[in-house]
Amino acid sequence: MDVSRLIDSLNEKQREAVAAPPGDMLVLAGAGSGKTRVLVHRMAWLMEVEGISPFGILAVTFTNKAAREMRARVEKLMHSSLQGMWIGTFHGLAHRLLRTHYEEARLPENFQILDSDDQYRLIRRVLKALNLDEKHWAPKPIQWYINGNKDEGLRAQHIETHGDPAQQRMKEIYQAYQDTCDRSGLVDFAELLLRAHELWVNHPRVLQHYQQRFRAVLVDEFQDTNNIQYAWLRLLASPNNNMMIVGDDDQSIYGWRGANVDNIQHFLRDFDGAQTIRLEQNYRSTGKILKAANAVIENNQSRLGKELWTDGVDGEPISLYAGFNDLDEARFIVAQIRQWHDKGGALSDCAVLYRNNAQSRVLEEAMLHEGLAYRIYGGLRFFERQEIKDALGYLRMINQSLDDAAFERVVNTPSRGIGERTLEQIRETAKVTEQSLWQTSLQMLQEKRLSGRAANALQGFVDLIFRLQQDSLELALEQQAEDVIKGSGLYAMYQAEKGEKAQARIENLEELVTACKQFEMPEEAENMTPLSAFLAHASLEAGESQADSHQDAVQMMTMHSAKGLEFPLVLIGGVEEGMFPSQMSAEEPGRLEEERRLCYVGMTRAMEKLVITYAESRRLYGQEKYHTPSRFLREIPTDCIEEIRLRNTQVSRPVQNRFAPATSHSAFDSTGFSLGQRVVHPKFGEGTVLNYEGSGEHARVQVNFSEVGNKWLVLSYARLTPA
Ligand code: ATP
Ligand code: MG
Repeated sequence: MDVSRLIDSLNEKQREAVAAPPGDMLVLAGAGSGKTRVLVHRMAWLMEVEGISPFGILAVTFTNKAAREMRARVEKLMHSSLQGMWIGTFHGLAHRLLRTHYEEARLPENFQILDSDDQYRLIRRVLKALNLDEKHWAPKPIQWYINGNKDEGLRAQHIETHGDPAQQRMKEIYQAYQDTCDRSGLVDFAELLLRAHELWVNHPRVLQHYQQRFRAVLVDEFQDTNNIQYAWLRLLASPNNNMMIVGDDDQSIYGWRGANVDNIQHFLRDFDGAQTIRLEQNYRSTGKILKAANAVIENNQSRLGKELWTDGVDGEPISLYAGFNDLDEARFIVAQIRQWHDKGGALSDCAVLYRNNAQSRVLEEAMLHEGLAYRIYGGLRFFERQEIKDALGYLRMINQSLDDAAFERVVNTPSRGIGERTLEQIRETAKVTEQSLWQTSLQMLQEKRLSGRAANALQGFVDLIFRLQQDSLELALEQQAEDVIKGSGLYAMYQAEKGEKAQARIENLEELVTACKQFEMPEEAENMTPLSAFLAHASLEAGESQADSHQDAVQMMTMHSAKGLEFPLVLIGGVEEGMFPSQMSAEEPGRLEEERRLCYVGMTRAMEKLVITYAESRRLYGQEKYHTPSRFLREIPTDCIEEIRLRNTQVSRPVQNRFAPATSHSAFDSTGFSLGQRVVHPKFGEGTVLNYEGSGEHARVQVNFSEVGNKWLVLSYARLTPA
């Protein structure tokens, strides 16, 4: 048997882990040290050398994407397809178990899964049924409460309320919600895990079956498991099987969602005799990138402590760019990608990472303007998001109240007591009279064809739209947007929810106001009002389908979704105090450390080149804010950084077209130069292009020459050549 291919491409420590004799093992190592690679090779080793069949292997990863990749990699190593092998996320695996053992789990055969939005809606229905006012019992915190308890393995009856009436009420809501789920055969995400756990606790025979079946259990990204997941793994452990746990405490970034990094310690406590292997060689990133990332994470107090080194090339320094504002920053990012692409680099090798989804809008627009295909991971494109579509729905009603789709979208969002029956009546009548839903509503109100309550509710909506229309006559576009967001009750609706997701929605709504403020009328919109031009712009952008999966496209995602991935070129935007770390986490040491780990995750995604940007001013969430560079930037050693722009130049926000002046295709078209490029001047010698302004004959470029320092040169006279 030739197993050399399973270990040839590994270093000594990695081999030790892959070829270890049966036993429990913890692989604790920093980013890019080959943890996932070790896990994949170990699976192959277990099958080939230990003779474990694919049926005997259970592997857990963090995302479905990672699970698919892992399967493909093992299959490639084994030269065969591995059908019976269980590879998936905790949720996916729990789901599979429950499907198989639905009877023991006391579920109907065709039970349905509730996603987070469904769960939220169901909670609202339960509140209504209990006659509880959402103003006092906001659904979002209740959703957190329910899921948080489930993550800890707690059913309502297990919760001790110590006679506190509010606690008692929460407990009742939890119970009522669960009863409804059980009656209707509904299972939410947290329930999947809890049910699967209970299945094993209550049915030792079922558990035994899996203990015997799975001789090897392997878990990647272990630092982000929560308590119920860990409890589930512990149940599965038996003398018959072994665990391989792989993780990095420095990359624990889901604490806010209940993940518990202490599980690493718990594992060592609970699995007596488990071997710990540390990997210290990094194969992913250049020396400069690694040094910078190591220096940043060193500022955290609570660490298990690891060092990473590489014997790869030192590589280019990290490019740091200070944008004048967010538009300038986006322009720079896009220009960098364009440059990479022009040199033959694939777009799919570039990742743009950011802290919040709301940051993607300006970047998306810059990409579209530059004609670069992009794909957004783990999130919708800006104009496709629910709350944005809601707000646009109102704007469309103001613009053109005959818009039935917009009517349907907003007539009862936020809820104003217009029931499905009333709507059905309106639709039916509209069908007969062949008029819009809006006209039909007006008519039915006039003719008093609706019952008192329904009529009042509908009248409220009609009055609102009339009022917003009236207001809009005098308001600038961004004020119209603001008027709509506030006046419609959308803002208040999300504000009442509190919670992470609601907060994100509010931020997106505010971002819509910014989008309106920054909107500039395109030439072809000569005869349109700003509002209709903007709406056309928004639907064109939303209609622009995401690059399909075969197309070469830039990858855009939050740093959270980038975990475990790697890209030759990584660009991180918005690295400013108040953004990253966020305002809230900057004030709390524990959360600040989690932000710093997130920064470490972001930086260590880069293989060859890392670009970091920040903006001195940013219009985000509807306001212009001035930020200082993130403290994380100060933690990077200066010899790892190359600053791209000097501080003393001033470029104003372009009036005509936001993205035109500085993209590499305007002033630089004829010359082929771009920001950051090395150039040679016959008299001044070699230097780096820092900035440019104007176009055509008047285009000027700023170059930082090694010999003579900074100079502004008129491009048409300067006789610059690429270095
Ligand atoms: P993360 O913490 O980000 O999940 P990781 O520790 O799981 O990182 P991998 O993704 O397994 O790291 O490996 C990082 C990169 O290094 C991959 O491209 C992998 O193929 C490569 N690599 C790992 N070990 C070796 C090795 N011994 N020789 C060559 N390349 C290696
Ligand atoms: Mg990994």
